[in-house]
Amino acid sequence: MAQTFTFNVGPSAVYPAVRQYLQDAYDEGWLSVPHRGERFTGLVRQTVADLKAKLNVPQDYTVLFTGSATECWEILAQGLTPRRSFHLYNGEFGKKWFDYARALRPASTGVQFGLDEIPDMGALPFSGEDTDLVCITQNETSTATQLRETHILNLFNRLGGALLAVDATSSLAGLNLKYIKADAWFGSVQKCFGLPAGLGVLILSPRAVAQAKEVNDRAHYNGLPAALSNMLNHQTNYTPNVLGIYLLSRVMAEREPIKVVAQHLADRAQKLYDFFEQATPLQPLIANPDARSTTVIGLRGEAPLIEEIKRKALDAGLTLGGGYGPLKSTTIRLANFPAVPDAAMEALVQFFVKEYVAV
Ligand SMILES: *Cc1c(COP(=O)(O)O)cnc(C)c1O
Repeated sequence: MAQTFTFNVGPSAVYPAVRQYLQDAYDEGWLSVPHRGERFTGLVRQTVADLKAKLNVPQDYTVLFTGSATECWEILAQGLTPRRSFHLYNGEFGKKWFDYARALRPASTGVQFGLDEIPDMGALPFSGEDTDLVCITQNETSTATQLRETHILNLFNRLGGALLAVDATSSLAGLNLKYIKADAWFGSVQKCFGLPAGLGVLILSPRAVAQAKEVNDRAHYNGLPAALSNMLNHQTNYTPNVLGIYLLSRVMAEREPIKVVAQHLADRAQKLYDFFEQATPLQPLIANPDARSTTVIGLRGEAPLIEEIKRKALDAGLTLGGGYGPLKSTTIRLANFPAVPDAAMEALVQFFVKEYVAV
């Protein structure tokens, strides 16, 4: 049988080595290891050290494990937001985050921006005086858009007393993010980490840790003060996803530094956008190159064409990611994640050349 590839954007392709890691986890006894014992705390210490080293996370930032990115939305509303948060979003994930935050902190506000728009950070309607947390989605998976480093920096520079929280679920471990320029970063491992779902990673600045202690949310099982004090001993406040943490440790140990990974993805993204724009009946979903995601390639076309392409691709062994929310039937999304091999991208281009490029 010909090789098959998946371009789903989450859950997405896992590294082939995960098969061996799963066997090793079983054989080495990790599936029954006590989460207060030295073996487990040693694993957490090593995983956090490797993650910080490979992703360029500052040493004074704190890494916490959660169950998902969605859980992080709620943790941040509970734990860092006594009054209100402000949300800047252009897609479904950013909007959902706003919805979760508003359910817990009804005074929270938000602004939606256009798909091809670079928002003017200086003009955003929030005040650092009465806003605890400013929330952005660095890579909006549903719209295949991205906020570049300079725009995040502009926002960071006008925060006043607020903290900046960044949903980086489909870019964490794929892009060289400047962690120093925000206070809370989070994602889950089924996207750019190339792992099965069930584990979230929350990265906090010293400022965020100080605010978490001040807010002192003790009313929730996943409250930050308990998570932070447990993490001082490389533990978690409840029995965690030990298998997920073990798999993460293996992937992080094997990974190239993020600079190398991110450059590879940027090169691939450029090639794909150029190819689709010039040679196929599909167009990039996002017309403005500065607003395009490098990890989620969005393409648009008429609904019947999209449906046909997805069906023919599947016959050729290629699972293309569908659209999300209101863009479901008129877009295709392609994961340009580290675990998607170059061979998959080549097979994808071959498929389009064969089926859709006039010669
Ligand atoms: C996938 C995704 C989420 C949700 O992740 P879960 O692990 O399912 O909670 C949140 N935000 C963004 C930007 C995503 O891509």
